[in-house]
Amino acid sequence: DEDIALLEGVGGDALEEATTWGMPVVAVVGRPNVGKSALVNRIIGRREAVVQDIPGVTRDRVSYPAEWNERRFSLMDTGGWEPDAKGLDQSVAVQAEVAIDTADVILFVVDSRVGPTATDERVVSLLRQSGVPVVVVANKVDDQRQEPEIASLWSLGLGEPWPVSALHGRGVADLLDHVLTLLPTKAKAPIQPGGPRRVALVGKPNVGKSSLLNKAARSERVVVADTAGTTRDPVDELVDIGGETWKFVDTAGIRRKVHLQQGADFYASLRTQAALEKAEVAVVVIDVSEPVSEQDMRIIDLVVESGRGLVIAFNKWDLLDDERRRYLEREIEVDLDHVDWAPRVNISAETGRHIEKLPHALHTALESWDRRIGTGELNAFVAELAQAHPHPVRGGKQPRVLYATQATTRPPTFVLFTTGFLDPQYRRFIQRRLRETYGFEGTPIRIQMRVRE
Ligand code: GDP
Ligand code: GDP
Repeated sequence: DEDIALLEGVGGDALEEATTWGMPVVAVVGRPNVGKSALVNRIIGRREAVVQDIPGVTRDRVSYPAEWNERRFSLMDTGGWEPDAKGLDQSVAVQAEVAIDTADVILFVVDSRVGPTATDERVVSLLRQSGVPVVVVANKVDDQRQEPEIASLWSLGLGEPWPVSALHGRGVADLLDHVLTLLPTKAKAPIQPGGPRRVALVGKPNVGKSSLLNKAARSERVVVADTAGTTRDPVDELVDIGGETWKFVDTAGIRRKVHLQQGADFYASLRTQAALEKAEVAVVVIDVSEPVSEQDMRIIDLVVESGRGLVIAFNKWDLLDDERRRYLEREIEVDLDHVDWAPRVNISAETGRHIEKLPHALHTALESWDRRIGTGELNAFVAELAQAHPHPVRGGKQPRVLYATQATTRPPTFVLFTTGFLDPQYRRFIQRRLRETYGFEGTPIRIQMRVRE
């Protein structure tokens, strides 16, 4: 019996379940080359080489589902940005900042062979003030004889350093046991049934996210202070739109303007993913006064990959003239064709135009995200499809779909039990038909395949 899970959608990672929805977050922070990726790979059991071989895997993905002693958590690797020497302090500070806003536990990785550096110490003061539990990971302790060397790490004032070898796995089990004792039983932002739905407002810099937040909130914004007694920035804000309350998550990432000489894309991507971790649905804001860019598309892809609902807000509509409008229509057709299922709103954060249309779009996306198709109905759909459009014969065999079921909602995820490997085109065809039949407006959908020999 060969079990193969294939996640469909933009940049879907073929080996991993993509959703980290609602899980507590453990963030990995540290200077370049201390072994953050090695540690992440070790914890999630990923073989680096394999992952790199998969086409379409988004390089800047940062959050992975992880599990230890039956506790599931989301492991966030904030270190995918290689700055030059000048940008180093800033990059590590940015990682720490995002981790502080997002994580339930922070793993601060230090190279035990190098010891704490000036950069480390600067980050440490940020971490110490944060109120978030921090574990100092003394990496590259490949054998016991090196253990005494880590004593200098006590000087960081973050408690006991944990000796590990990410490369060989040494000490990682003990580290994870310890991490579990620090994990809250619930995610930092538990989902309250019936509470306000959680929205991530994302988009590249200067598209108008903070303007939109301000306009929507007017004077009604309620700032939700996070954990009392800490110096942390408020990270979520309740916003009333048309008499209904929404929770905009990780607004610290919007409010705090970071002016980076370099690494701005990475910072935006990190912020986007941090917000998506906690959100149910994302509003991707695009500035219509400029051509739709690679960065806009990458942010959309991150939303799709995260498995959250998607609404696209075309902002600065007040700046649109006829010529630009024609170009925009063309760009939408070409560049955003793969997300033609996402509800769109054409707004102006400046004038307030059509902001009141946002709630309807959000509800549409959330309803689809929560939608479940009954197994009976689904199998009737599959049977009809197989009869009208059988899979092409491949090497003398014709793979068939025996049975289908919707494994989960949030986002809708379907499992197809088949007699052979389905062509990517055929899987896309099924996905298209699922949308044509059931809508799923505003949500990514996933198809997994199980091959029965
Ligand atoms: P990152 O930049 O912090 O993500 O660091 P990497 O995970 O890419 O590791 C940097 C280098 O350190 C690589 O050459 C790794 O092979 C090496 N490395 C990572 N962990 C260990 C370890 O536990 N022991 C040893 N000896 N080398 C390690
Ligand atoms: P953020 O970086 O995505 O939060 O973007 P901001 O909200 O800071 O907006 C960037 C710039 O675009 C500011 O100068 C805003 O005044 C301007 N802006 C935002 N929304 C609109 C809009 O709807 N119309 C116009 N004309 N300008 C806007």
